[in-house]
Amino acid sequence: MTCPGAVLTIDLDAIGANWRLLRARMGTAACAAVVKADAYGLGMMRVAPALAAAGCDTFFVAQLEEAIALRVLLPQAAIGVLAAPVHPCEAVYARHRLMPVLNSGHDIDAWGAFTRENRGGAGADLPRAILQLDTGMCRLGLSPAEVDALAAHPAALNGIAPAWVMSHLACADEPEHPQNAEQLRRMRAALPRLPAPFAGAPVTFANSSGIFLGADWHFDLGRPGYALYGGNPTPGLPNPMRPVVRLDGRILQVRDIDRRESVGYGATATVEPGSRLATVAVGYADGWLRSIGGRGVAHVSGTPAPLVGRVSMDLIVIDVTKVPGGAAPGDMVTLIGPDRDIDAVAADTGTIGYEILTSLGARYARTYTGTGGAPSA
Ligand SMILES: *Cc1c(COP(=O)(O)O)cnc(C)c1O
Repeated sequence: MTCPGAVLTIDLDAIGANWRLLRARMGTAACAAVVKADAYGLGMMRVAPALAAAGCDTFFVAQLEEAIALRVLLPQAAIGVLAAPVHPCEAVYARHRLMPVLNSGHDIDAWGAFTRENRGGAGADLPRAILQLDTGMCRLGLSPAEVDALAAHPAALNGIAPAWVMSHLACADEPEHPQNAEQLRRMRAALPRLPAPFAGAPVTFANSSGIFLGADWHFDLGRPGYALYGGNPTPGLPNPMRPVVRLDGRILQVRDIDRRESVGYGATATVEPGSRLATVAVGYADGWLRSIGGRGVAHVSGTPAPLVGRVSMDLIVIDVTKVPGGAAPGDMVTLIGPDRDIDAVAADTGTIGYEILTSLGARYARTYTGTGGAPSA
């Protein structure tokens, strides 16, 4: 019993239900799960087994260290690392059966050399590789010119076993953006130019929002992250996903204001006599980002209680004047929950829900509910 200052509750059944919903949206194609950055801050150690229980057998992470931790958890899963090995770490990928994403001629040459050296014997089960094409992000992957260069020198791929051809959408959360059709056009133009063994390999293209762009973007495997964790993949439309995260902070002190006063660092906010303020044990060191100062809203049993003044490292102050029956020290107030989801908190903060999730602090007491495998509700 520690009476924590804030409690983060993560609904594993909702994550499992969200994965099943996304898989259903993919129709006959398959659906993976992206669990990079500690499953978007929610804890990969708990989230990945829940997704596996829901039926997911293919996972993506961003970094080798994440992949090694995931391999321990899920000995049978297919695991893709969204980056190629930095030489000489190829053998680490092979030892843990991790699929590298080859993003450049440099990556292809290095992984090809490794696979050719280790072919046969133990090399018989070297991991398959994912080849990424850049269709319009200028971030990772082969450009159209590099695809042509590869087609002219297909021997660079000797020894490499293909898993998927991959690309990533820049604007999938804006369905009307012309970039979506343009990236699809470039993908369709590039695929027939790929030499063996990637010619005809299955394709993975869509992230969470991409799955909702329609069947043209689906190809063979979806790669959702954000929507699994309750984020809205269709901004501006009702959120089809089940909420996953709830954050409650504890009231440490309640203060009745009897004269005009300023609140918090910088004295940026003023409150009038008759106001009642509550100080809550959540601050920017918990990932309650400072840029929400003056704009955020907590809820006390469903009643909005606006944030007053700046966010401190460990504390915020909220206005509980309108809360029926008042609010008392020890009470919990809801910062993320049914009345304010991660997308709304992100809008208040001036960021995206992805950053709200991945900023969730290490000091929260974390409670996991469900298993991920329960029937979807
Ligand atoms: C993070 C990431 C995803 C998942 O994207 P969401 O928008 O969270 O669904 C998929 N593919 C790649 C390459 C990524 O980096």
